Amino acid sequence: MRTRPRTALLAATAAVAGVLIAVPLDSAEASRPAADVATTKLYELTVPARTTVAKDAELLEAQGFDVLEGSGGGKVKVLADPTERERLISLGFSATVTRSLPQVRWKTPSTTDSTYYGGYPTVTGQYAHMDKVARTKPALAKVVNYGASWRKKNDLGGSKLKAICITRIAGRKDCSLDPKAPKPRFVLMGQMHAREIATGDVAYRWIDHLVGNYGTDATVTSLLNSTEFWVIPVANPDGVEIVQEGGDAPYLQRKNANTSNGQDCAIPPTGQSQSGVDLNRNAGFQWNTGGSSDDPCSPAYHGPTADSEPELTAVQTLFRKLYPDTRGPALTDIAAADTRGMFISLHSDTRMVLFPWAFTKDDAPNDASLRAIAAQLAADTGFTHGQPGELLYTASGGTDDWAYGELGIPSFTIEIGSTTDTTCNGFLPAYSCMESSYWPTMLPALLNAAKSARAPYQVGQSSR
Ligand SMILES: [Zn+2]
Repeated sequence: MRTRPRTALLAATAAVAGVLIAVPLDSAEASRPAADVATTKLYELTVPARTTVAKDAELLEAQGFDVLEGSGGGKVKVLADPTERERLISLGFSATVTRSLPQVRWKTPSTTDSTYYGGYPTVTGQYAHMDKVARTKPALAKVVNYGASWRKKNDLGGSKLKAICITRIAGRKDCSLDPKAPKPRFVLMGQMHAREIATGDVAYRWIDHLVGNYGTDATVTSLLNSTEFWVIPVANPDGVEIVQEGGDAPYLQRKNANTSNGQDCAIPPTGQSQSGVDLNRNAGFQWNTGGSSDDPCSPAYHGPTADSEPELTAVQTLFRKLYPDTRGPALTDIAAADTRGMFISLHSDTRMVLFPWAFTKDDAPNDASLRAIAAQLAADTGFTHGQPGELLYTASGGTDDWAYGELGIPSFTIEIGSTTDTTCNGFLPAYSCMESSYWPTMLPALLNAAKSARAPYQVGQSSR
């Protein structure tokens, strides 16, 4: 089977979105600069809660609205086009436009371009970067292909799934796919939600910081001698391909590119519809127990069954090869006190450090340590910390609940963002914000998390 021609794809999308595409895509692509294309405007809306934020967020999600991770403080944040805004108001809500997202213009990076939207790395750029690091620093880094994306598996283009292991490679067991490897593992993952583009860039910079400072910076040298760093900068490469097709106005695709569930879901995404499965609602640990959607076009669609998506199951398989299982099967089983390692999944943009459980407000068995580490990360970044149910509402099927629940790994979601709201926050911060705000905010937190990876469940224990 071959990829549909892009004109057909666009026409289908236009029909769904109810907009007129005046310029044939092929001619727009052939002649630069790209012609403007009429399209639906997208707004970030602030919706004051009528009951509680948690209840209203769940209600709106059930109604098919794109409820953003940035809700809280008495307000729900919703991504919507003008039609969806009207529907929101007809349901009795008021909705203020907080941010108007850029009009879509066609300036798609070519398959060989390494950056887009002012400097953000494309999938091609991320993969070339990892390969180059491993090629030029073989004593410090190794690239591992750990699976294939949905499009790749279905012969529709797509990508391999790639991770890079960074440590002082002293023997065969370093960077091996063996849970009994000598050093604790710290995995940092970006862009499982494709449109959260700052997360991939922070992961990219983390790779450079580690390999670039070995032997000169005492902290980095000590960490690479004692710990293995695994970085998955793009957990959802098919989704990122859709995002970057927007060029200077990246598409807000959150999910993967699996089109087999809702045939009419929009590609690229519109305010009310997007194709794919939410990889961070698909994991088979307390799957579909709240905070996710049955609607295939919803941004929070949990998939037809638990663990149905190749990008997620590949991460799970990789984790089983990197971490021993230190937690029993019961919800109340505590992970072993000598558990080693750490997992951080990067998301944006609400400036929060989240930890299990996400599917319930109940404390996780290792709550004291998880909470203490999260408090440290919050102090380092200026973010707030708590379980999702404490800060907003519960969400099931997440990778961090799975990693902690199945294997006992101390797992965190960091919602990265900036206080400079007009230019640097949101899903599409100006690229200059990475250097001025995101990276300096995150580096101290990542270094402290790395130090905790040696004995994470000793953190926050009053007696040892
Ligand atoms: Zn996210």
